[in-house]
Amino acid sequence: MSTPSPRTPLPMHRQVPDAHGFFGKFGGSFIPPELQKQMDEIDRAYQRICRSHDFIHELRSIRKHFQGRPTPVYYCKNLSNRIDGARIYLKREDLNHSGAHKLNHCMGEALLAKYLGKKKLIAETGAGQHGVALATAGAYFGIPVEVHMGEVDIAKEHPNVVRMKILGARVVPVSSGLRTLKEAVDSAFEAYLKDPVNSIYCIGSVVGPHPFPLMVREFQRVVGIEAREQFIEMTGKLPDNVVACVGGGSNAMGIFSGFLDDPVELHGVEPLGRGAKLGDHAASLSYGKEGTMHGFHSIMLTDEKGNPAPVYSVASGLDYPSTGPEHAYLKTIGRTTVGTATDEEAVDAFFRLSRLEGIIPALESAHAVAYATKLAKERPTQDILINLSGRGDKDIDFVMDQYGSYAEKKY
Ligand SMILES: *Cc1c(COP(=O)(O)O)cnc(C)c1O
Repeated sequence: MSTPSPRTPLPMHRQVPDAHGFFGKFGGSFIPPELQKQMDEIDRAYQRICRSHDFIHELRSIRKHFQGRPTPVYYCKNLSNRIDGARIYLKREDLNHSGAHKLNHCMGEALLAKYLGKKKLIAETGAGQHGVALATAGAYFGIPVEVHMGEVDIAKEHPNVVRMKILGARVVPVSSGLRTLKEAVDSAFEAYLKDPVNSIYCIGSVVGPHPFPLMVREFQRVVGIEAREQFIEMTGKLPDNVVACVGGGSNAMGIFSGFLDDPVELHGVEPLGRGAKLGDHAASLSYGKEGTMHGFHSIMLTDEKGNPAPVYSVASGLDYPSTGPEHAYLKTIGRTTVGTATDEEAVDAFFRLSRLEGIIPALESAHAVAYATKLAKERPTQDILINLSGRGDKDIDFVMDQYGSYAEKKY
């Protein structure tokens, strides 16, 4: 009797999303019909172009010669010794050009725009990090960039506004409503819908309607592919744990997707801010529930009316009331573990990594370092690989102003 040979299952990153952008019940596309037409077109174009030899070749060359990839994996000897627990390693996305992982997907999105003959890149930005990364990509390709930003954020994030202007982007101030991220999103979509033929909307994380959660993950996957190879080369084995901070979820999906099919525990770290009360944090997977916002279905923090709840974190890049649908899916099926770090834990980790290793992390990434430090004490015989999503130069004035006393502490 012959038994049918079992078919090799597809790698996990190929199993989801389905053709409609669903990761299980999460994801999809919940947007007005005129916007849906544009998303369908971007989806079709992406599916075709991402397989073309020219596109792959050009993206590889950009990563190597412009971005400085591969970024190294680094063993934190001092930090590991001090904790006296697990061995801690960093994937150094802070050394990626422009200082964070965001350029990985912005260069991909801008390259796609070039292949589509688009004449303008449009985006919203909150703290300005996505705006700066996209402005960098626009300068490289010679494509004009228009970044919509709330007036409150413009006042708060002055250095990033200056950077965008130096890089040649047009910053459009948004004066409606609370004058922050939500209004900036509305304004950017409005501008995009005025001329969808000549412009393209560039989303800043693995969020929004299909195909963005898929596309942004694929552009970030390079982080996980490199890290897996580098880690095995350094240590002869896989890490036991991979840790990344989760705002929208792009840096985490980037590194996770390199290890999805391995016996490696994947930890997403959400910002617990000042505590567990609604409005004091942005830990959407930990405290949120199923819902739909910003064009996709996921797990999110909402108020009584089902609208996006106010959220807070010391790290402005993590300050988002939901998380990409793939994170909701991976958590629900039990493939990932979701943890948290508070403002104070993150600031403490910010100083600890600076002091012990000479690396100033972004406050966002410091959440991952804080969580990994706790984990390292619980699992002394294991290896932990952290995605250090960005560098902390942008945060130094704020940290010294608000948390100057930490600088007096011994680490
Ligand atoms: C924007 C940002 C994040 C959060 O975004 P994700 O999409 O969750 O990765 C994390 N780290 C840095 C340095 C950032 O700039």
